[in-house]
Amino acid sequence: MEGYIMTDIKQPASALSSPRFCNMGTFMRMQKVDSAEGLDFAIAGAPFDTASSFRSGSRFGPNAIRNISAMMKPNNVIMQVNIMDGLKGGDIGDFNVTPGYIHPTYQAIEEGVANILKENACPIVLGGDHSITLAELRAVAKKYGPVALVHFDSHSDLCDEVFGQKYNHGTPFRRALEENLIDASHSIQVGMRGSLYDPDEHKMAAELGMKLIPAHKVREMGLETLIKTILERVGDKPCFLTFDIDFVDPAYAPGTGTPEVGGFTSLEALDLVRKIKDLNFVGFDLVEVLPAYDHGEITAYLAANIVFEYLIIRILEYIPHFSGQHSYCLL
Ligand code: MN
Ligand code: MN
Repeated sequence: MEGYIMTDIKQPASALSSPRFCNMGTFMRMQKVDSAEGLDFAIAGAPFDTASSFRSGSRFGPNAIRNISAMMKPNNVIMQVNIMDGLKGGDIGDFNVTPGYIHPTYQAIEEGVANILKENACPIVLGGDHSITLAELRAVAKKYGPVALVHFDSHSDLCDEVFGQKYNHGTPFRRALEENLIDASHSIQVGMRGSLYDPDEHKMAAELGMKLIPAHKVREMGLETLIKTILERVGDKPCFLTFDIDFVDPAYAPGTGTPEVGGFTSLEALDLVRKIKDLNFVGFDLVEVLPAYDHGEITAYLAANIVFEYLIIRILEYIPHFSGQHSYCLL
């Protein structure tokens, strides 16, 4: 088999010719790029964590995900597709965040995402705490108008204020609604659980026009019904997928800042993302990986694999003949 070389824009470096632990850690050992020009997708880091309410340290999430993503290979066996055969992508590095200062950080993230969108590439952002998603949505909504939000998380992140502050990792979607960045009537939040200060917090989502399905309801309805519900809710609206790694049970994803027990398995998380592939995605992020609390890099590796599933979704959009051709053996 021919080895890939590092300068090949289409294929990541192969461990058959260059060991995985060599070179600087770009996502999946893809080429480092300076702009998204000519690309179908760009991976970017938003290493900001000073809007975290409990443990800090997710600023180290993007590079932890990149480092362990050296384990990822470009062929998805379930989908029978090499993602880099049809997609051009690269790792654009990190946005220029300002630790401790959320508004300059938001500006840097919004500009960075806008630069990716300007090239008609799909942004895939690695967090960072969940506050960063607001800035991404500002850029996305400028291009597409209010988008449908698909939100996997153990928290709704719809608080009005945390510590008296409007901008926090517990508030991004309240702000996004106020700024008309997301279309509540097509948005859905899944996986919420754990103890709350406000017993009506989940009802508040409905009052804001969102659909929120807590973890225990997911268990009652089953994953197949959940998938159907997500697909019906979003329809063909342009859609942004935000995945907070604490959606997954801390047994599988301990490296995160505000864990909640009773969550989903890593297999369920991967299958859920893969099964909503037919939605009209215009952007993705993966947030709240906190390497200092991780063990054996399992959280970061799961995050890398979820991002790999995002890429599968992209290639199925670009190469429609893959859709429906294979049996996906899901769940
Ligand atoms: Mn969150
Ligand atoms: Mn969360």
